[in-house]
Amino acid sequence: TAGKKTAARKPDYLTFEDIGGQDQPKRELTEALDFLVYRDKIQKLGIRPLKGILLTGPPGTGKTLLAKAAAQYTHSAFIAASGSEFVEMYVGVGAGRIRDLFKDARQQALKLKRDSAIIFIDEIDGIGGKRDGGMHREYDQTLNQLLTEMDGVQGDENVRVLLIAATNRKELLDPALLRPGRFDRQIQVDLPDKSGREHILRLHARNKPIGEDVSLVKVAEETFGFSGAQLESVMNEAAIYAMRDEAETLSSSHLTQAIDKVMMGERMDRETNS
Ligand code: ATP
Repeated sequence: TAGKKTAARKPDYLTFEDIGGQDQPKRELTEALDFLVYRDKIQKLGIRPLKGILLTGPPGTGKTLLAKAAAQYTHSAFIAASGSEFVEMYVGVGAGRIRDLFKDARQQALKLKRDSAIIFIDEIDGIGGKRDGGMHREYDQTLNQLLTEMDGVQGDENVRVLLIAATNRKELLDPALLRPGRFDRQIQVDLPDKSGREHILRLHARNKPIGEDVSLVKVAEETFGFSGAQLESVMNEAAIYAMRDEAETLSSSHLTQAIDKVMMGERMDRETNS
């Protein structure tokens, strides 16, 4: 049936401390999440509940990690999907999957005895892209269903559902999604700066034997423009070079080779895509 493809998982144990850099997005996100945590207080003040948070920014910067940490922070069930899973040829299938996703999230929360659930939809532009004059009926239905579910999330007293969505292309989103009461909060998640890169490198060095000649500060300086995902690759590739050398620790030369490799891979990606 529809929705079977969406993976229901237990909240992976991941906290904001496991995410390097991104201090501003973390602060903005926890502030927004406190609406969920202190919901009685919010209700008493008559503030409307938070329904959606949109994370925008380039790929590999930790948006998925932030959504997982958000689930941990709020003791919510966590369920993830990608916008591309809802794009279907037949009218109604995508909308059905959206309905199932919200239903699954509530069920998951009840099963885990949590009073809230966080749904993470990556590449939301796949569903909520701008409509072009009713040309795509199927596509419209899917987006409408998402809007309906978001409007309805207040209705269930037992489980509160919060939607966190991510996109690299906010300019493509349908304005209906950005209206008040939908994605009330938008958080920009940018490429990490130098100290952010150092922090990310340190996190990914935790489980690796690092040689004494290695300076992660220097590696952070040499990786300007790298995303968190690329920095993770650098540490991993360096460990592979160490293994090839039958070395017991990662040396600064392994790291230099790894930086070159990741940079080269990036360049090749860009050339094949253009
Ligand atoms: P996409 O838009 O491509 O889905 P994303 O922003 O959701 O990317 P993530 O999936 O969160 O990126 O990150 C991919 C991987 O890169 C993570 O599993 C992690 O290993 C690493 N990574 C990215 N950002 C960070 C970070 N800030 N701290 C630590 N690791 C990071």
